[in-house]
Amino acid sequence: MSDLHAEIVTKLLQIAEGEPVIVLEEEAAGAPLSDSNGYSDEAMAKLGKLEEISKIASQCRICELCKSRNKVVFGVGNPNARLMFIGEAPGADEDRIGEPFVGRAGQLLTAIIDAMHLTRQEVYIANILKCRPPGNRNPTSFESASCKPYLLKQIEIIAPEIIVALGLVAAVNLLELPPTTAVRDLRGRVFEFAGKPLIVTYHPAALLRNPNLKPATWEDIRRVMKMLAGN
Ligand code: URA
Repeated sequence: MSDLHAEIVTKLLQIAEGEPVIVLEEEAAGAPLSDSNGYSDEAMAKLGKLEEISKIASQCRICELCKSRNKVVFGVGNPNARLMFIGEAPGADEDRIGEPFVGRAGQLLTAIIDAMHLTRQEVYIANILKCRPPGNRNPTSFESASCKPYLLKQIEIIAPEIIVALGLVAAVNLLELPPTTAVRDLRGRVFEFAGKPLIVTYHPAALLRNPNLKPATWEDIRRVMKMLAGN
C-alpha cells in the first residue's frame, strides 16, 4: 500500500468509526479522469496520484450511497488546473456515465467555461459527494464528511489557484456554514478553503430553474476571470 493510499484509508476509517463499513461484491468503474494528451511531467505525476485516489474511491463502502450508485464520479479535468469547480453531487446522468456535470446543468457549466475562454480540459470539475444520493436529495452530514478526504486530496494535488463553489450545498459544506445561509449572501466575497481563495456562485441547475440569476452569476465569473488574470 502506498503512503497516499494508507493516508486516505486511515482518514476514511476514522470517519467511519462507529459506523458500519459496507461490503459489496461488485465494483463501479469510473470514467477516464483526464485526456492526458500533451501533459507536462508535473501534470502526469499529479494525474498518477489522482488515479490512485480514484481507485480507492471506486471501492469506497463508507456510506450507504455505495449501495445505490452505478458509478463513482471522482472528478475530471486537468490535474494542473488553475481553476477548480466544486458542485454538489452526481445526478442520474453523472451516475450513469461516471463524469461530473454531464447532464443539463453540466451543459450550462460547459457553456460558462466556454464563455471564460477556457475548456473543460483546462479546468478541474468535482463534487462534494462522489456518489449519487437517491432522488438527488441533499447530502447528509455523514456522507459529506465521508467524502471530504477525497476532495481535500484532490485540491492538495491539483493545487488550483481559485476554487468556485457552485451552489449553496457546495458552499455550506466547504465553508462549514449553517444551512440557513443563502447564496446571495455569500456572493461577491473571497473566502478561503484548503488555503485557496474560494468564490461562491449559483449552481447551474439554479440558473436553469431561474434564468434571472444569470447576470449575477456572470458577474461572479467575471470576477474569477479577473483573479486568474492577476487583477
Ligand atoms: N449537479 C452537481 O452538483 N454535480 C454534478 O456533477 C451534476 C449536477
